[in-house]
Amino acid sequence: MTPVVFDSHCHIQDSAFDEDRERVYERASAQGIGLIVPGYSMKTSQEAMTFAGSHENVYALVGVHPHDAQDVQEGDYQTLQQWCANPKVVGVGEIGLDYHYMNSPKEAQREVFRRQLILARDLGLPVSVHSREADADTLELIGMVKGVFGVLHCFSGTEEFAKALLHKGFYISFAGPISFKSAHALRATIPVVPWDRILVETDSPYLSPAPWRGQRNEPLRVIRNAEVVAAQKDCTTKEVFAATLSNTYTIFSRIGQ
Ligand SMILES: [Zn+2]
Repeated sequence: MTPVVFDSHCHIQDSAFDEDRERVYERASAQGIGLIVPGYSMKTSQEAMTFAGSHENVYALVGVHPHDAQDVQEGDYQTLQQWCANPKVVGVGEIGLDYHYMNSPKEAQREVFRRQLILARDLGLPVSVHSREADADTLELIGMVKGVFGVLHCFSGTEEFAKALLHKGFYISFAGPISFKSAHALRATIPVVPWDRILVETDSPYLSPAPWRGQRNEPLRVIRNAEVVAAQKDCTTKEVFAATLSNTYTIFSRIGQ
């Protein structure tokens, strides 16, 4: 069955779903929601591939999150490259910079991000980028790797950051924070993103949208995020589904091949 919308970034392989992963998948699947499941470490990248391999309309991304940058070994890049040959792997992610938690030193984060951007670019695959309190460095590194393309996941930056990403050809994906009561400035960035560059996601198990804020999130709730986008774009939720579905196929072009 063809999906009606994609949750473009959810971690269904996470241990938060160990008790009921199949039921969570079924609830989303019953509503026509396809899943893109990024890894955030070598282990969870492998788990994402395994889950994608055995489920319809589920695709994986492989990559190492900035939190784990200091643990990356030279051989890991080669392993990631080999995993990218798997037809259910549609990109490299989640990768990026996180200067809020700083779980890995800045220099390690920058180097691991740069290497994975190059890996994706050389393979012609898109990246899914995480950027927290690191927007200037994120733009700098993306700019250094000519020809790289992808999506900034869980966008929570300024209008200026959104425009700079769009200028670099990036897509922008919105998650639960757009539904938070006080997020007026963030919601105001939604109309800045044109129809052909917008995606929606949940980042499950994190960032449940209102009114479920603080609970474990799940892919089904991508519908709620699409509703918020629709309200800001002054259109129907169905139109948000259609636009983001088409954008998902454009950017993650291995889907459907
Ligand atoms: Zn994530």
